[in-house]
Amino acid sequence: MARLNDKVALITGAARGIGAAIAEAFVREGARVWVTDLDAAGSQALAERLGPQARAARLDVREEAQWQAVLADVLARDGGLQVLVNNAGISGLEGGAVHNPEQAELLEWRAVHATNLDGVFLGCKHGIRAMRASGGVGSIINISSRSGLVGIPAAAAYASSKAAVRNHSKTVALYCAEQGLKIRCNSIHPGAILTPMWEPMLGEGAQREANLAAFTADTPLRRFGRPEEVAAVALMLASDEAAYMTGSELHIDGGLLAGTAVRPQSGPQEK
Ligand code: NAP
Repeated sequence: MARLNDKVALITGAARGIGAAIAEAFVREGARVWVTDLDAAGSQALAERLGPQARAARLDVREEAQWQAVLADVLARDGGLQVLVNNAGISGLEGGAVHNPEQAELLEWRAVHATNLDGVFLGCKHGIRAMRASGGVGSIINISSRSGLVGIPAAAAYASSKAAVRNHSKTVALYCAEQGLKIRCNSIHPGAILTPMWEPMLGEGAQREANLAAFTADTPLRRFGRPEEVAAVALMLASDEAAYMTGSELHIDGGLLAGTAVRPQSGPQEK
């Protein structure tokens, strides 16, 4: 039996990258999937590729009225919502902006938080309401980052917003439990996952190969993760297999957060 049979799922930022891989995995496991994104054409193209179980909608996660309209449509057409993946996110570095704590512009700091944090707040707020209206059972999955657990000097707003997503996920989990709802909320913390988000930083040809190696030099598994690998974790959290998991955080980072290997300059193992 498919793992998400009879579930209706909405995924934000799903036209490409990690969100698209999650949409594909959920469809494969039997869910009705709403592919939403700022990029309406991209959402539509993916929904068509995924077939009759998928629907597309434009949803800018920063806009409360859009959340209300899209979720009203979900309830009207599919009768409920059981899974919400708050995946849409931006690094803020796309246009080459400087994001260190000393030089970041307030407007740019706010823009990153508007998508990454306000978007998750609005998704949880209206997702809880939609799930409550359709039986009070569901799974909210917030895509944070390993950057939500450590400082990132060159991406201060990104790291701050992702840390807040981690914390808000726990607040939502406790609130839903307090309310007697069977709505779980957990966060996923990916390390470097090879998606279009990285492309501007990679370059081409030999430079690209060198950058791929450089960006993963500190990762114990020495490679980028794949979007399907994050989708596998989201699938588990969306399914009833994770019925006892709420307020949890799952790292999928090739071992990056496990610690630092301390190696002496010289020692028995190097002789
Ligand atoms: P991506 O390839 O850049 O895809 C993100 C998607 O979100 C894009 O389709 C983008 O649309 C959309 N989006 C941006 N702003 C939006 C908004 N306001 N409302 C709705 N959709 C919006 O990114 P990704 O790498 O798949 O990342 C997905 C999530 O994983 C993000 O939250 C990211 O922070 C997190 N993450 C990624 C990595 C990684 O290494 N890739 C690591 C840790 C965490 P447009 O293209 O039209 O802007």
